[in-house]
Parts: sequence; structure tokens; C-alpha cells
Amino acid sequence: MSPAATPVDIAALDAADPLRGVRDRFVAADDPAVAAYLDGNSLGRPPRALLQRYEDFIAKGWGTRLIRGWDEGWFERPITLGDRIGRLTLGAAPGQTAVADSTTVCLYKLVRAAVDLRPDRAAIVLDRGNFPTDRYVVEGIAAETGRTVRWIDPDPRGGVTPEDVAAAVDEDTAVVELSHVAYRSGHVADLEAITALAHEAGALVVWDLCHSVGVLPLQLDTAGVDMATGCTYKYLNGGPGSPAFLYVRNGLIEEATQPIQGWMGVRDSFEMGPGYDPAPSIRRFISGTPPVLAMLAMEATLDIIEEVGIEAIRAKSTRLTQAAIGLVDERLADLGVELGTPRDPERRGGHVTIDHPAFEALMPALWEQGVIPDFRPPSGIRLGLAPLTTSFAELEHGIDTIADLLRQQ
Ligand SMILES: *Cc1c(COP(=O)(O)O)cnc(C)c1O
Repeated sequence: MSPAATPVDIAALDAADPLRGVRDRFVAADDPAVAAYLDGNSLGRPPRALLQRYEDFIAKGWGTRLIRGWDEGWFERPITLGDRIGRLTLGAAPGQTAVADSTTVCLYKLVRAAVDLRPDRAAIVLDRGNFPTDRYVVEGIAAETGRTVRWIDPDPRGGVTPEDVAAAVDEDTAVVELSHVAYRSGHVADLEAITALAHEAGALVVWDLCHSVGVLPLQLDTAGVDMATGCTYKYLNGGPGSPAFLYVRNGLIEEATQPIQGWMGVRDSFEMGPGYDPAPSIRRFISGTPPVLAMLAMEATLDIIEEVGIEAIRAKSTRLTQAAIGLVDERLADLGVELGTPRDPERRGGHVTIDHPAFEALMPALWEQGVIPDFRPPSGIRLGLAPLTTSFAELEHGIDTIADLLRQQ
């Protein structure tokens, strides 16, 4: 702890938290067996309103409307829900966002579409700190389409900077594919500056928003982002395996073709035509039948986001990560724990990573005691702080349990 630091006052932070009551709107948030849930950035808690939503959907939707439901909203649901995600969290005007597939499959569709829009350029720019699925998908596309991957090596405790991107792109770059918030360090990339740099080089940019959506405000339209995708089971509390969303900006949609040509992405699905005739809208990025049941939970979370506003969520997120860093300095630094996340709040997303060589061995005991963060190799514990559900007291309990276990080593 540095001499100038003031002790973190957890009780005061909880007392002054305008979102503290929101936690009760999630299932089992008071379950005593879970003393500190610090992985809401990996799997958000279920919203309580979902119970009624499921019951209504099963009784009044699926149960009685049966096949007619497709004409009564289900067929359009990937796009109406996409528009809502766009409006509340992405800064995206209607008609550019659809809910579909998993992030992995959406990444494949988008990067393939983007590469095909730059047929004379050989390179796809990506960083070695990117999430595994991003790296694997891009490497697969490079192999399949005869392109090369140009790797950026970012600071592991930070992330990709505009300088890194400026040095990596040139007239041969087809696509830049990056995560907005780094899954390990929590570093927030400068989305506006990097998008502009990619465009100056004539490249397209595809952003992975998995650790951004629902926790920090985005302005995709204003920034001129070409394409983006992200998952909905993290800060949108959509439930395990809930579908992803994808965004393609106006002006690019009708030029772009995606590789999984299915009957739900055509101009008229029920014409059952002889050949693939892609819809002249974001629908062309949909392939098959949408997972309607799996879209219900995120709607309940979007209701809450609409009510409290994404700015209030970001404000609490910043207070949570600030408190986490304060507690790490105060109670863990002396035990050899190092911060793996940027201290600058502007450059920090919703989670904080801390490193210690003993952390991997500590994980079973932590989970046993109901303190649930996750582990990221080689030595990181990731403290995922979900503004709608994480309390400051919960965070403090988690940090103190980690300190106790380290002392017992
Ligand atoms: C969680 C996460 C994913 C997950 O992809 P799935 O296809 O849903 O398994 C992808 N990218 C990033 C950056 C993530 O954090």
C-alpha cells in the first residue's frame, strides 16, 4: 500500500451505490453458499423476471400459438432484439444488428465477409493477446482463403494500442480483428482511433465486444465501425449458451456476403426458391432458425438496462474496479500479488486481473468457500465485477479470502 492511499471504505461505497437494489432482481443473489460471485463477466446471474417470462412464453406463446408464433414475432425476433441491443448498448441505429449463433460462428461469418470485401489484400491483423476463439477463427480463415495473419504482440498487462495498429496496417491489410476489452487484462482499446487508422489504410475492422456489451457504453455508428460481434451470456445475463449478436454498418450490408448461406437469410424464406438470394438487409447474416427460447433472458436484462441506463452501469463498474485495485494495493500487494490491469479508468473495462504464482493452486479452496472468480493462465485470477449484481462487500469478502488463503500457503 502506498503511503498516500486512503483506506477503501466499502460500507460507504455500498451505501452510496444507486444500483445497490438492482441486485435483488436476480435469482438467488442472496444465496449464502455463494459468498462472493466474481465471475459475472463470464456468466451473468439469471434475472428474476425471466421466471415469469418463461412461463408466459411457454403458456401463451409456444404452448397455444404453436407454429403461428413464427408469423407473430419469432421470425423477426433476431432483428427486433438486435435493434434493442443496438439502441441500449451499442450506439447502433436500427437495421444493423441481428442476434444469431455463437460469437465464434458470428466472428467466422463477419471476418469471412470482410476478407471477401477486400479481395486484393493479403493480410489479416490480429493480436496474440486476443481471445483464443478469435485467433483460431482468423487462422482458419487465413488458411482457407490464402491470406496471412499479421500478429501484434501487445503488453500482456495492457492491450493493443493505436501505435501498435499503425505499425501493423498498410495497403496490403484486408481486415483488422480485435477485442475491444481484452479478456485477460481488461484493457479497453481505443476503438475510435483504431477504427480510423484501419480505415486510413483502406482496411475493414471487426470488433469483438464480448467484454464490453452491457458494461460500458459503445458508439459503433459514430465511430464508423464496420462490423462487430459479442456474446450475451456475460454482462447481458442471457444464460449459458445464449446466442450472440452481430453488427454490420449501413452501407456495407448489401455489399457483404457471408459464408453460411441458409434459408433464413434470404429475401423470402417461405418462397423456398431454387437458389440463394440474400435479403437486402442485416437478415442476410442469419443462417438458420433462431433460438427463440434462448433469447428470453437477455430481454429481462435489457429491461433493467433501459431503466437504469448504460452510463450509470459504467459509472458503477468504474467504482467497482477502482475499489478492487484499492483493495489489492491495501491487502494483497504485500503478499506478492501484482495487478494485471490498467490503472487508468479510461483504459479499464469491467474486470480486474491479479497475478500470483500460487493462484492456480488456490482456486479449489476459493470455490469451496463460495468465492467464485475464474483463473486465467499462467497465474491470473480474474475478478469479474458485474455492476447490476456485484456488491462492494462481496468484492471485499473475495479479496480478504484470497489474502487469508495466501497467508496459509
Ligand atoms: C467469452 C468470449 C467469447 C466466447 O465465444 P463463444 O463463441 O460464445 O464461446 C469470444 N470472444 C471473447 C473476447 C470472449 O470473451
